[in-house]
Amino acid sequence: MDAEVSDGLKVRVVRSGRRKRAKIVVVPDGVVVLLPMRVGEEVAYELVERFRAWIERWRSVLVEAVEISKTLRPASRTVEELKELASKIADEAVKKIPGARPCRVIVRKMRSSWGSYSSKGVITVNKLARFLPDNLISFIVYHEVCHTVSRRHDRRFRECLQEYFPNKEELEKELLAYEVRLGLITAGLDELSHS
Ligand SMILES: [Zn+2]
Repeated sequence: MDAEVSDGLKVRVVRSGRRKRAKIVVVPDGVVVLLPMRVGEEVAYELVERFRAWIERWRSVLVEAVEISKTLRPASRTVEELKELASKIADEAVKKIPGARPCRVIVRKMRSSWGSYSSKGVITVNKLARFLPDNLISFIVYHEVCHTVSRRHDRRFRECLQEYFPNKEELEKELLAYEVRLGLITAGLDELSHS
């Protein structure tokens, strides 16, 4: 990836044949613009200008996450132990949350998220969560169980999660720091730059 500097911001352009629309990915030292094959480079710089305020805000959050990530002490669990713990938390969450539906937990490699919920009642937890402390695993699992109440991140969903995690902002910050530490934030990018 070649990098060019635009007003103090390092801009890298990555093209992919599979990509249909341009996408900006903010990284701690700048921004990566993903472009479809035939789109000119100037489009990348136009996008960076248009979204500069958003990019700078998000980048300062990331820079802070990089600092926090240096102080983290990742847990050491096996995938089996993670699955057991996440299942236990899911059962507990289903009992506590009014209207929640029973879920089965599976653990697998995920590229860019910590968890997901399918309407078939399956919660998927990212394998990398085995390095997280218990409270963050709870946060991820409760998030997905709240999706059994509401699929979208609407008010109903937010109220559900807020009830059990009034310190949501703090946890999100810590989770982001783990994403930096474990390479989850740039996982999709590595793949693209090698293709
Ligand atoms: Zn969600």
